[in-house]
Amino acid sequence: MQLLALQEVDKELQGLEEARDKFPAEIDERQSQIDKARSALQEQIDLLENLGREQRHYERLIEDAKADLKKHEERFSAVTTNKEYDALQIEIAACKTRISEYENEVLETIEASERLRQEIEGRKQDVGQIEEQHQARIEELQQRLATLQKEVEGVETRRQEFTQNIDARLLQRYQRSRKNRGTRVARIMKGACGGCFRQLPAQLRNNVKYTPIEVHVCENCGAILVWDDQTSS
Ligand SMILES: [Zn+2]
Repeated sequence: MQLLALQEVDKELQGLEEARDKFPAEIDERQSQIDKARSALQEQIDLLENLGREQRHYERLIEDAKADLKKHEERFSAVTTNKEYDALQIEIAACKTRISEYENEVLETIEASERLRQEIEGRKQDVGQIEEQHQARIEELQQRLATLQKEVEGVETRRQEFTQNIDARLLQRYQRSRKNRGTRVARIMKGACGGCFRQLPAQLRNNVKYTPIEVHVCENCGAILVWDDQTSS
């Protein structure tokens, strides 16, 4: 009966230990979801900055091209031959073409920036939601981890007190099967093993009942069998 109680303590301990081992992974997973959302947002913000730089680059090119155009136009007054006049006309046309190409580029970057700015606004809201969703759970898990360690220690102390009163040989037998996570100690229930519910031979049932000083195990599942007047008879 002491072993049965010990088994209950061990189950409690296992549950706490499993939670303690599982929480950090969940915290990491949730944190990485937040990081992923944030870095996707940052990528778009960087892209927007690049578009801004590109726009300013083309605006400078336009200024240069306009200055160039002005210089060419001023040269008209100095032109003396038809050939010079034609050559100047061609250069001026080329300047104007360049200016209009650059203006197109500026327009495209402005449009792209506007689209991106809207996307970023939407994504900021998404990131906010993702942070809200995960942050609360992360904090909850961190708090539980902090108290969990104390709980584990408390149960371990309780376990020690328990084991002090248990026959050393019996305890050793129990500990040996500790790696087995299933039932290690079972009451006999209506003639069957309480762990695996296999029907037990009458001889074994009698041995468990009348020679409790011996350790008897279920041949099917290996559980140490316990006679309990309440349930076994
Ligand atoms: Zn069994």
